[in-house]
Amino acid sequence: MNRQLLSLASRILGDAGHRQEQDALSIEGRLRELSFNLWWNWHPQVLEMFRELDPRGWVETNHNPIALLKRFPTGELAQRAAELSLENRISFHYRRLQEYLGSEQSWCSAQAGALRVNPIAYFSAEFGLHESLPLYSGGLGVLAGDYLKSASDLGLPMVGVGLFYANGYFRQRLDASGWQREEYGVTEIETLPMRRPVGADGAPIMIRIPCDGETLTAGIWIARVGRTLLLLLDSDVEQNPAHLRGLTGRLYGGDEVTRIRQEILLGVGGLRALRALDLRPAVLHLNEGHSAFAVLERTRERVEEDGLLFEDALRETSLQTVFTTHTPVAAGHDRFSADLMERELGWLRSALKVDRDRLMQLGRVSPHDGGEPFCMTVLSLRGSRYRNGVSSLHGHVARRMWTDVWPGHTEEEVPIGHITNGIHIRSWLALSMNRLFDRHLGASWPAHQSECRTWLPIASISDAELWETHSVLRRYLIDFVCRRSGRPDLLNPHALTIGFARRFATYKRGTILLTDLDRLAKILSNVNGPVQLVFAGKAHPADNPGKGLIKQIVEITRDARFAGRLAFVEDYDINVARYLVQGVDVWLNTPLRPLEACGTSGQKVVFNGGLNLSVLDGWWAEAYDGLNGFAIGDGTVHANAAIQWHRDAVELYDKLENEVIPLFFDRDAAGLPHGWIDRMKRSMMTLAWRYNADRMVTDYVSRSYLPAAGGLSSS
Ligand SMILES: *Cc1c(COP(=O)(O)O)cnc(C)c1O
Repeated sequence: MNRQLLSLASRILGDAGHRQEQDALSIEGRLRELSFNLWWNWHPQVLEMFRELDPRGWVETNHNPIALLKRFPTGELAQRAAELSLENRISFHYRRLQEYLGSEQSWCSAQAGALRVNPIAYFSAEFGLHESLPLYSGGLGVLAGDYLKSASDLGLPMVGVGLFYANGYFRQRLDASGWQREEYGVTEIETLPMRRPVGADGAPIMIRIPCDGETLTAGIWIARVGRTLLLLLDSDVEQNPAHLRGLTGRLYGGDEVTRIRQEILLGVGGLRALRALDLRPAVLHLNEGHSAFAVLERTRERVEEDGLLFEDALRETSLQTVFTTHTPVAAGHDRFSADLMERELGWLRSALKVDRDRLMQLGRVSPHDGGEPFCMTVLSLRGSRYRNGVSSLHGHVARRMWTDVWPGHTEEEVPIGHITNGIHIRSWLALSMNRLFDRHLGASWPAHQSECRTWLPIASISDAELWETHSVLRRYLIDFVCRRSGRPDLLNPHALTIGFARRFATYKRGTILLTDLDRLAKILSNVNGPVQLVFAGKAHPADNPGKGLIKQIVEITRDARFAGRLAFVEDYDINVARYLVQGVDVWLNTPLRPLEACGTSGQKVVFNGGLNLSVLDGWWAEAYDGLNGFAIGDGTVHANAAIQWHRDAVELYDKLENEVIPLFFDRDAAGLPHGWIDRMKRSMMTLAWRYNADRMVTDYVSRSYLPAAGGLSSS
């Protein structure tokens, strides 16, 4: 680990730093240490060990090791471990974790040594690390979670900075009519893998920010994600007036005042928390614009402490700042009025010694348009030197979308590049598939996942073995859906299973398959063999059209024509996603091009033997090669959305009837679909080495972090 992070971990979190202390730890102590580092969540043998301790508790705690251990009365945990002869395994995994944390050898030490001195601060409004830590709503959060895990594996010193949402994101319930209802739980903090850092005086470290004539105080939580740390700010502390305690209660909840205050806490408060913990980041990475106020806070530090002029301080800050934009959809870009900005950030503006107009200019596409509100994305673009979209196509779209921020530049000259997203493989890979990879690719494949040749031996896996492994995963999925719905015969474990799970935003067009119900009914009861559909996904609480789409699907699941062929799984989260991406044969993706910036769920499917059937948008536009999955349409964009919808629907039905279904049911005497299995292999061999998070993080290192960190040392 990096020295600053290591010192923080041992000083503040009370890590057992010395070998003697480690050796002296009891079995209970070792289990506790394991449960407090989210490293467990991408090590299936460690998960398995927790599960064995109490299989029922494992399910009832939503796979939360800390909650699981708490269920054992004092003393009984060690006894239980002894009964199950788990002690050696516990000690083994504990040692593995210590070795992982203490190791000096990593990709980073070999390839990017310059980054080992000061950590990268990775700011994100959401972090999706595991279903038991509800700090995410969807793709952005899951990406951030996967990012930290890969940074840890690569030995890149990184600190995630986010907010602690005591009520998380909502749980989805569907009422009798199929309408989405949002329920907010209260997370039991003592079951989360977080600790409060304390100062020399033994008191928890807090940070403070002016807030409309009052002071907003926030506590800090630290979670450990392998070798990286995640700092989470929490406004629910007694120092705060009652109306501010709930500020961080909900992710994306509340009005625009809540919104701007959350973002001030994330950006300004996040940077203050890093300082309070003695962390001096070499690079600030803004994962989406929510955290862009960090740029202003860093600039303030330079103005007030180093005596720089505002413009110089801003330029130097931008040299160490990386910005990733994630969506071409307008609602994804926060905008605040000049009045709100002055009320909430007037204090910071004064400290920066600039007038209202200059501050507003930083957030306007047209700086001198007094009517234009302050856009967080524009501040991010102006406050960073390394900027990227999240797929090749999205890079083009982002350059077009923000051309006016660079007057006099053509679209191609706009300085926004792209780094395509990837997934943290071992967080999404089924255990059985992991074992298959270990056997055929060699156990060190994870360390070489970004090399094309690592995946070549997939070609020599026997068709029967690969098919059997995937078929068992399909069965797990079907069992899971049946269990969840309380209907044991809801679906068929042998049917061609098509999954569609994503946020129900209208541009994703989740109901496109329902365009022609007669034709759909015919497809699902195909003569070649049975086909079934599994849907899941939440709509944003304020998105009534999105909720309407869910209702439409739920109504169809009740139509007799579709009995046993269609299911909607409630409350999409990381756990549901894991079952789906591991078990489906086909992953359907139907966004209105080019509005899907990247999409990552389809990448998760690749590693588990599923095939993508997708519009050529986001990552699929660059990944599809004609044989490694299926495409809907040829990428042509029609100006009229209704015509586009109709055309894509027809194309989708045709594709299913003429290609997908016949290929899946074209079996030999042993029941093996060789043509299909060829495609599964080709999908893995052409996509696995590129669409993983190690490749993504190393791209950020070479294109953004190394130059940005160099910018720091030269200033
Ligand atoms: C992977 C994932 C996403 C992102 O999927 P998209 O392809 O971007 O729609 C969203 N939610 C969950 C729970 C995920 O696991």
